[in-house]
Amino acid sequence: MIVFKFGGASIKDAEGVKNLVKTLQTVGFEKTLIVVSAMGKITNALEQVIDKYYKDKTALQSAIQEIKKFHNEILLDLFANENHAVFARISSLFDELDSFFKTNKSPDYNYVYDQTICYGELASTIIISAYFNEVGLKNSWLDVREYIKTDNYYRRANVNWEITQAQISTKFNTNTLNVTQGFIGSDANNFTTTLGREGSDYTAAIFAYCLNAESVTIWKDVPGVLNADPRYFENAQLLNRISYREAIELAFYGASVIHPKTLQPLQQKEIPLYVKSFLNPEAAGTKVSKGMDLDPKIPCFIVKKKQVLISLSSLDFSYIVEENISEIFSLLHLYKMKVDVIQNSAISFSVCIENNYNNLGKLIQHLKAKFRVVYNEDVSLYTIRHSNDQVVKQLEKGKVVLLKQLTQSTTQIVTK
Ligand code: ADP
Ligand code: ASP
Ligand code: MG
Repeated sequence: MIVFKFGGASIKDAEGVKNLVKTLQTVGFEKTLIVVSAMGKITNALEQVIDKYYKDKTALQSAIQEIKKFHNEILLDLFANENHAVFARISSLFDELDSFFKTNKSPDYNYVYDQTICYGELASTIIISAYFNEVGLKNSWLDVREYIKTDNYYRRANVNWEITQAQISTKFNTNTLNVTQGFIGSDANNFTTTLGREGSDYTAAIFAYCLNAESVTIWKDVPGVLNADPRYFENAQLLNRISYREAIELAFYGASVIHPKTLQPLQQKEIPLYVKSFLNPEAAGTKVSKGMDLDPKIPCFIVKKKQVLISLSSLDFSYIVEENISEIFSLLHLYKMKVDVIQNSAISFSVCIENNYNNLGKLIQHLKAKFRVVYNEDVSLYTIRHSNDQVVKQLEKGKVVLLKQLTQSTTQIVTK
């Protein structure tokens, strides 16, 4: 089997869906599994729906209707016949979401989130599967929730590999073109779970692992993995080859082109990962596999915006010792802060963190009871892999450097 993953950007409109077909016709689609995300920015739109459910029920209906309309317009562009069954299927899908809100009794936000957010992937795959059949790409639509089984840690569920492997081994037909959803799974009670935002790459890797696939390709709006995010850096260069290890490092530091969880399962079975452009499917793109670190071996830049830098010192200027550090980390864990850099000196301790769950106020308040706290919101964290003096100096030009850390192959700089 070959596994392909198409993200939101590749299918943001009807043109994108048509291009998907063209891509498959160019590169082949026999014995292929296509993993698809929600179309365009639909996942964000569904987050707004959830927000309305909690904060403004009067606007809930129209938020759902807007998403339904978005998909309906894509259908109108793709299907000449408005009586095609797919129209009714999409319509009833959103009626189902509507009735979920009417009947839901659970107070658990994370549970509600996952039961709602999955409609993006369900809708996109229903549309794509129907369109494929329409243009002669015969395929099976799979509900991924029957294959990827997880615990019930809603919004960041953990895969139960044993059951998932068993489901895929017994139920998956490897002799055909299959279309399924990325990002979602289900728990032991068959409630929908999700693998974390941007998790569709990971879905592709899970299937590849369980199917012993030949390769995985994730199709992107960039030529492959570049040595920097082209949105923030000019002249980003294509990396032709990357080792699993180097790719894991890049993803860990925040190179968002590959979801960080994607690489481990592939590395374990030495399944190559290709990152290619859906705009130029015949180009080689990037190959991630066993072997050489990086080709070409050039510095790689990763930026994370909207970070928070917190510096702590003891109230009486005594040393910051292990006990304090352990206490600080307990609080960071409690408030679900992802720590990206730490630095300590005799009387101060600094951490650069991501405030993904809106808990900064509570954390600061808690810390202030024990420490002198200075913090800076909206700082940027730059990580340079394979750095050298020249590129670091160039990057620092015109920026206020708040913190800097060097190891043999990696430089990290926090700037305002
Ligand atoms: P998907 O459609 O699969 O969700 P994403 O938008 O998540 O795709 O990922 C593609 C984007 O990742 C690119 O448009 C680019 O801006 C960004 N990106 C960040 N770092 C890199 C990098 N090192 N190389 C290429 N693209 C990168
Ligand atoms: N649709 C989901 C998201 O936007 C998953 C993904 O795109 O990978 O986070
Ligand atoms: Mg994405």
